[in-house]
Amino acid sequence: MIYFQNVRILTPHERLPDGAVLTQQGQVEALGERSRIVCPLGAEIVDGRGGYLVPGWIDVQINGGFGWDFTSDPISIWEVGKRLPQHGVTAFLPTIITSPPGTVRAAQDVLLQGPPPGYLGAIPLGLHVEGPFLNPAKRGAHNPQYLRPPSLEWVQGWSPQTGIRLVTLAPELPGALEVVRALVGQSVTVSAGHSQASWEQAQQGFQAGVTCGTHLFNAMPPLDHRNPGLIAAILANPGVYFGMILDGIHVHPAMASLAWRAAGAGRLVLVTDAMAALGMPPGEFELSDMEVVVDATSARLKDGRLAGSILQMDQAVRNLMQFTGCSPEEAVAAASANLARLLGETGQRGQIAPGVRADLTLLSQDFQVEATWVAGELTYRRGAA
Ligand code: ZN
Repeated sequence: MIYFQNVRILTPHERLPDGAVLTQQGQVEALGERSRIVCPLGAEIVDGRGGYLVPGWIDVQINGGFGWDFTSDPISIWEVGKRLPQHGVTAFLPTIITSPPGTVRAAQDVLLQGPPPGYLGAIPLGLHVEGPFLNPAKRGAHNPQYLRPPSLEWVQGWSPQTGIRLVTLAPELPGALEVVRALVGQSVTVSAGHSQASWEQAQQGFQAGVTCGTHLFNAMPPLDHRNPGLIAAILANPGVYFGMILDGIHVHPAMASLAWRAAGAGRLVLVTDAMAALGMPPGEFELSDMEVVVDATSARLKDGRLAGSILQMDQAVRNLMQFTGCSPEEAVAAASANLARLLGETGQRGQIAPGVRADLTLLSQDFQVEATWVAGELTYRRGAA
């Protein structure tokens, strides 16, 4: 049992300025104004010192970190997961990019075998498979050798039960819509990305079941007033979510703000698209089998194209507030509640409410991560060894 007090709670749907939260057996038991929530005898007391208590963050696009790359070394999912709570992340979708046959299977096996004994860290909710059904003209850092046309056979058996949660594909490719329908029928979320879809092709994708856009603005044609393509189609459709990489490099702050104002607060999902160099000094790293050069702010192929990021989720949340002027509640929702809705996890995670998992992040008043709990277990505390 943990009793959190002296915290400003962002549920994130509402703010309780002097709140208390009681957790029990990995779930939130009660929350409210401090005067109304009794601290039971024997509960561990956590004093938030006036900071924010928010739902733990969910990163649905992360390629690796701390020196590891999930695509080339899927077993590293657990090593990275252990460290993600330092950035407030309590759940994630390890992302496998376009790669040789067998790679996704290997990563599925890692998830299906489960964590090593005593594992304490962010929970992988299933894979995000980005590729291989991408438009070669918008392939970004994906190896063209392994791109392929959409294939029903390729995605046979993919479902959350077999470790697949989200698939990014280009809906305009021949056969893509059949694959979208099959995946949605298997309860896999489908996102449009690395795509040149026209407005009309994007609508067909949405009708087939696409509910998200992958890293809006990146690896898709720019906004064009005579030819509204995928970006405009995503922003105009109130039922479609979109990821954005808010490191200030992938998307100019002004464009991030424009997208925010066009779509409203409920549809933006913050992603990091972080790669192996996250949390490491500058140098050369791998993204799948591509060499990536990393400096203090960005990760690029030798020809200068961006290849993932070194963005931390807590920085993405702070940047969203800075770039758009949004409220702390809205920024927190973009890293938690919006993602839970996208993945169909509302009621289980992404908010602070009775009966929801006690995945909680404590932030200082300036939004630095102080401590993180996964299912009520302390997994990170700033300054602790
Ligand atoms: Zn990508």
